[in-house]
Amino acid sequence: MPTAFITGITGQDGAYLSRLLLGKGYRVVGLLRRSASSDVVGERLRWLGVLDQVELVDGNLTDLSSLIRILQACRPDEVYNLAAQSFVMSSWQQPLLTGTVTGLGCANLLEAVRIAAPETRFYQASSSEMFGKIQEERQSERTPFYPRSPYGAAKLYAHWMTVNYRESFGLHASSGILFNHESPLRGIEFVTRKITDGVARIKLGLARELSLGNMNARRDWGHAADFVDAMWRMLQQDKADDYVVGTGRTVTILDFCRLAFGYAGLNYEDHVVTRQDLMRPAEVEVLQADATKARERLGWQATVTLEQLAAEMVEADLARHRRRARD
Ligand code: NDP
Ligand code: GDP
Repeated sequence: MPTAFITGITGQDGAYLSRLLLGKGYRVVGLLRRSASSDVVGERLRWLGVLDQVELVDGNLTDLSSLIRILQACRPDEVYNLAAQSFVMSSWQQPLLTGTVTGLGCANLLEAVRIAAPETRFYQASSSEMFGKIQEERQSERTPFYPRSPYGAAKLYAHWMTVNYRESFGLHASSGILFNHESPLRGIEFVTRKITDGVARIKLGLARELSLGNMNARRDWGHAADFVDAMWRMLQQDKADDYVVGTGRTVTILDFCRLAFGYAGLNYEDHVVTRQDLMRPAEVEVLQADATKARERLGWQATVTLEQLAAEMVEADLARHRRRARD
């Protein structure tokens, strides 16, 4: 039975990746950072019905010795580095923490792999935010980077460290440059989930308004369940490499509002207000993937449409609020 070690297992992607790997017969070990609210930490894993099938081990991406000890103990075949301070807006409030966790954290884990498990296959969760102020209309592995936030800059450092450890030490280290991917398990601070949660509240009479920032930014949104499959495929290749993963379709925040509100029989124009304080100091205006390489080499392509994604997220948020009202 192969063993996978996942950092960020309690996040959106960690939960979907755990479910995928368990379904393939893996033993799944996940990094759990100590929290005073440990009762809610496993919520996403519980939601997908896999919490009691994974092993959670105590440690932190910023604590190299904990990572080395874990790798020595669990001897994984595959390591997925999904842990990060992952919210762009917070990265301006906490730029140093973002650099420490999202950037240096990856270097810590690469060092731990190099020292304790050099045969392990390594996946780094890179991001389309590294393209930032885009240099090409559709972004591929060859597009130059131009990050626009402390988050993007930290991810870029982690990306190049992954490439460097592959080239310097021969590690089987791959970097997946993933475009935005969402699900009912997306953090509520991200715009899609904020919108579907707002739709559910308005539909159920719990709120009348939803405040948003820049409605004209465009994103290439897919479903997280599809995207974790691309991560796994990367680590099954004989040679480690870098891959762009995205749907290739880009729409505005306003388009997503139209879809989500429309699904619930509402008109977004009656409810959405824009607020200046939700605008970003520097914006990534548009992202659109050219995922030709992932399609040709990994056989990967998105299976969930944006319409299906929005519908699933609205349904899940309606169910959550109805359940809360009952309890
Ligand atoms: P989430 O924010 O949902 O999850 C982040 C995870 O990192 C959580 O499990 C969190 O733990 C953990 N974490 C944070 N800090 C530390 C730390 N110091 N030590 C150990 N664990 C820590 O992110 P997603 O699941 O959405 O994304 C997964 C990865 O992919 C991230 O690296 C993200 O930046 C990247 N990415 C995501 C994209 C997306 O659209 N979702 C697009 C491109 C890249 P806790 O639960 O305790 O907070
Ligand atoms: P990101 O692409 O990783 O930054 O994901 P987000 O979901 O946080 O943001 C996507 C886009 O939505 C960005 O261009 C934001 O400026 C825009 N946006 C507009 N209003 C909001 C809002 O209220 N919250 C968030 N998170 N983003 C917003």
